[in-house]
Amino acid sequence: MANKKKFLSKEQIIAAQGKTKSNMAAARYLHVSYQHYKKYAKMYNLFDGHKNQAGKGIPKFLRGPKKMPHMMEIIEGRIAASSFDPAKLKYALIEQGYLSEECAVCKFKERRVLDYKVPLLLHFKDNNSNNYSLDNIQLLCYNHYFLTVGDIFNSKDIKQIESKQEHYGTSEKIEWEVDDYHLQRLKELGLDDEDDVNEYISRI
Ligand SMILES: [Zn+2]
Repeated sequence: MANKKKFLSKEQIIAAQGKTKSNMAAARYLHVSYQHYKKYAKMYNLFDGHKNQAGKGIPKFLRGPKKMPHMMEIIEGRIAASSFDPAKLKYALIEQGYLSEECAVCKFKERRVLDYKVPLLLHFKDNNSNNYSLDNIQLLCYNHYFLTVGDIFNSKDIKQIESKQEHYGTSEKIEWEVDDYHLQRLKELGLDDEDDVNEYISRI
């Protein structure tokens, strides 16, 4: 979870706003909760100017008539998680500051330069994927998921990866969770078409 005591300078807020399109995204960029960010942004009179009411550049599923509920409703079980796409819930948990985008065990959070993906999987400790209680969920890197939960790749995936043949990633079951989620992250960054991605890569 975000460090509640972390002091945020005016320069940090300005820098985060320069990299993001909304206050929510700026909070995530700084690895603090939305409430924590809001307190400092308001203090420096930088909050209202960075509001993104129109939702420009924000993934479609986070705006419009089918807007996601506040995650606290799902975390506390007042709204059933089963009626939402798990990839969207995972995104919202990070977006709304309930989970840091890093491995809960080793804090790994490196992004792949190619496409900005972080290799993290959402794990439900009680194996109930509708139980979003904060003490039941954690993000794990592939290594720690493998070591503490179980296999990520099935034997067919491994055979394909380790064979000399060209391979096409993992089985469908694995793919949807990682890819739908990360596609939204790219869209949020405005990197939703190939030219943008190439341009982004050439800048870094
Ligand atoms: Zn780890």
